[in-house]
Amino acid sequence: MKKTKATAAAERHYVIEKEKFVPVSQYFGEDTFNHKVMKQKLPKDTFRKLMEAMNEDKKLDHETANIVAHAMKEWALEKGATHFAHWFQPMTGITAEKHDAFADPCGPGAVIERFSGKQLVQGEPDASSFPSGGIRATFEARGYTAWDMSSPAFIKRNGISTTLCIPTAFISYTGEALDKKTPLLRSSRAVSQSAVNMLKLLGAKNVRRVYSNLGPEQEYFLIDMDYYYKRQDLVLGGRTVVGAPPAKGQELEDQYFGSIRERISSYMHDVEEDLFKLGIPAKTRHNEVAPSQYEIAPVFEEANLAVDHNQLVMDTLKSVARKHYLSALLHEKPFARINGSGKHVNWSLADDNGNNLLNPGKTPQDNISFLVFLIAAVRAVYRHADILRASVASYANDHRLGANEAPPAIISVFLGEQLTQILDSIEKGKVAKATNEEIIDLGISSLPQVSKDNTDRNRTSPFAFTGNKFEFRAVGSSQSISFPAAVINTIVAESLDDLAEKIRAKGSKNINQAVFEVLKSEIRVIKPILFNGDNYTKAWEAEAGKRSLPNFKTTPAALGALVTDKALRLFEKYRVLTRVELQSRYIIYLEKYIKDLEIEVKCLGNICLNQVIPAAADYQKRVAEAVIATKAALGGAAVAAEADLLKKVIRLVNTIYAGHKEIMAGMEAANAGHDEAKKAETLCEKIKPRMDALRESVDELENLVDDERWPLPKFWEMLFIC
Ligand code: ADP
Ligand code: MG
Repeated sequence: MKKTKATAAAERHYVIEKEKFVPVSQYFGEDTFNHKVMKQKLPKDTFRKLMEAMNEDKKLDHETANIVAHAMKEWALEKGATHFAHWFQPMTGITAEKHDAFADPCGPGAVIERFSGKQLVQGEPDASSFPSGGIRATFEARGYTAWDMSSPAFIKRNGISTTLCIPTAFISYTGEALDKKTPLLRSSRAVSQSAVNMLKLLGAKNVRRVYSNLGPEQEYFLIDMDYYYKRQDLVLGGRTVVGAPPAKGQELEDQYFGSIRERISSYMHDVEEDLFKLGIPAKTRHNEVAPSQYEIAPVFEEANLAVDHNQLVMDTLKSVARKHYLSALLHEKPFARINGSGKHVNWSLADDNGNNLLNPGKTPQDNISFLVFLIAAVRAVYRHADILRASVASYANDHRLGANEAPPAIISVFLGEQLTQILDSIEKGKVAKATNEEIIDLGISSLPQVSKDNTDRNRTSPFAFTGNKFEFRAVGSSQSISFPAAVINTIVAESLDDLAEKIRAKGSKNINQAVFEVLKSEIRVIKPILFNGDNYTKAWEAEAGKRSLPNFKTTPAALGALVTDKALRLFEKYRVLTRVELQSRYIIYLEKYIKDLEIEVKCLGNICLNQVIPAAADYQKRVAEAVIATKAALGGAAVAAEADLLKKVIRLVNTIYAGHKEIMAGMEAANAGHDEAKKAETLCEKIKPRMDALRESVDELENLVDDERWPLPKFWEMLFIC
């Protein structure tokens, strides 16, 4: 059985027969109702009104909405769509859609395709089954979806079915955000306002809006679909809960950036073709560090669009995999002891003239501005490292953070040597002697010029400045990047406002002098968050402790940061999340943690009782028979090895059975209380270690039992046969 399975996987090649390959530029974005299409399809006046509504947050009148809806419907019908759907991002972390047919009865036995402005602008999905953390119970309000004009509608093809998807926000009738999009949109508005105010204070003219940009680097694993469906832990929980490490892992370092296998290349090509049609600028692809691990990164985009696109990237990775008889694993840690998957989120701010505000500039004014935005971001992380940590907390990501492959749970900022020196000079009030002819001219003094990538990039830092953007590396591969981005936007908005207030308070005529003085005293305060060294070391953990940096190693410990007074006030002040919304999110994340862990416990139990122990018992019986037969033939001395093996197997089976029983008893005890936070903590501290111990015994057994009879695909097969 084993041989055929492995051989089948290895031999199956997905052969694509393309009639012709078309240059990407000819079909990029063809499945989106984007600006170009709108300009083509809409009357001039309607297009203008729509743009106004989009760019100036104006309300769209009924008539305009009707005209847009009609054009959208005609376009969608041409693409073969039969249905439309409001596409939204409930608190599950994935996307949701409810399809309605365009076809509408119009008299006996006849239908006509209809789609009204009202249907475009607002939808009312039955939302009662989405997590709300108690919001709907409190307000007894139903939810509705509202069209997000800033993200283009798109065509979703699924088998032979085609649907027009309209990106929407999901809100309760009392106005509470029930989704991941709404707070992000609010945070973008907040950081834009604060950044524009700051730029004006610094003397900039003609800046009306500032955008936060995101570039997410998505990591994932691919395994043969055969293996996937043979493992309930992968299918139900996304992670293997048992499995011995393969003889070869990633120690030869032969996978990272290695040449991509044919089957995988074809898959990537198909993924990208779909993404290009959706207007997603997929740019880089490569093998990652672990065997069978890969990365895809699109070019950065405005935050809201980048978030929608990342959701579509994750969907596409999964759906195209099925066509290739592969399974895409987006879990943060599908294989214990093998590198996990993260999602580096690159973040920056740019004004509406396209200037990156984190780009060191040529003129004194540019440099002052650069330093202000840089230090505002560092200050934001210093003040709210705990919230940033909480924004990426999940059961799955706990397997990764701090595991010497991903940043630790301690959030710190890497600036590189040169920038650190610049900050030192400012703090000391010294006009630094430039080490070379390149200087950063601040009008009132000069500092060494910042050159891009002047120091080695520090791969271990959770929040690294990489030339003209920050890279937040603690985000998990399966997570929506929406909340982490909303947190960064909000905390930076606050820091920009605080700095602006302090600069104004100086009352100085020379604005640069005032800025300089404020930055000087700020740097002194926020310095503890800066760390350029190796984040993986024990020494750093001790040092971070001395600096009083938060170090929440697990989700139950980290989530509390969302409901501190500090957090509640921050999100309320910037109208990103109200008290009720934030508290409900805290509960949703806690419940998710508990459910994720419970699912794994059940999978582990099933695997132990229904697969592992039966296989071991079978093997045990055969060894026992061999012992008896050999003894009869050759005498007792001849069976030492088999007898020893038999005892080992029996010992492990007993340990596994007892371990499972102990976990079940522990679960019952944890379920007795009503406090969700307490329950999460108990599961984390009492159950999780027992699960790990149980798996050790199963993995030991895997290495003893007859390979032919082992009921689960093994790591070496899943990771190397493809
Ligand atoms: P790495 O070397 O870390 O893989 P890349 O240069 O490939 O980094 O970029 C990674 C991601 O960062 C890409 O999605 C890229 O578009 C994005 N990125 C580049 N510049 C910016 C920026 N100014 N703001 C946000 N993201 C950016
Ligand atoms: Mg990167």
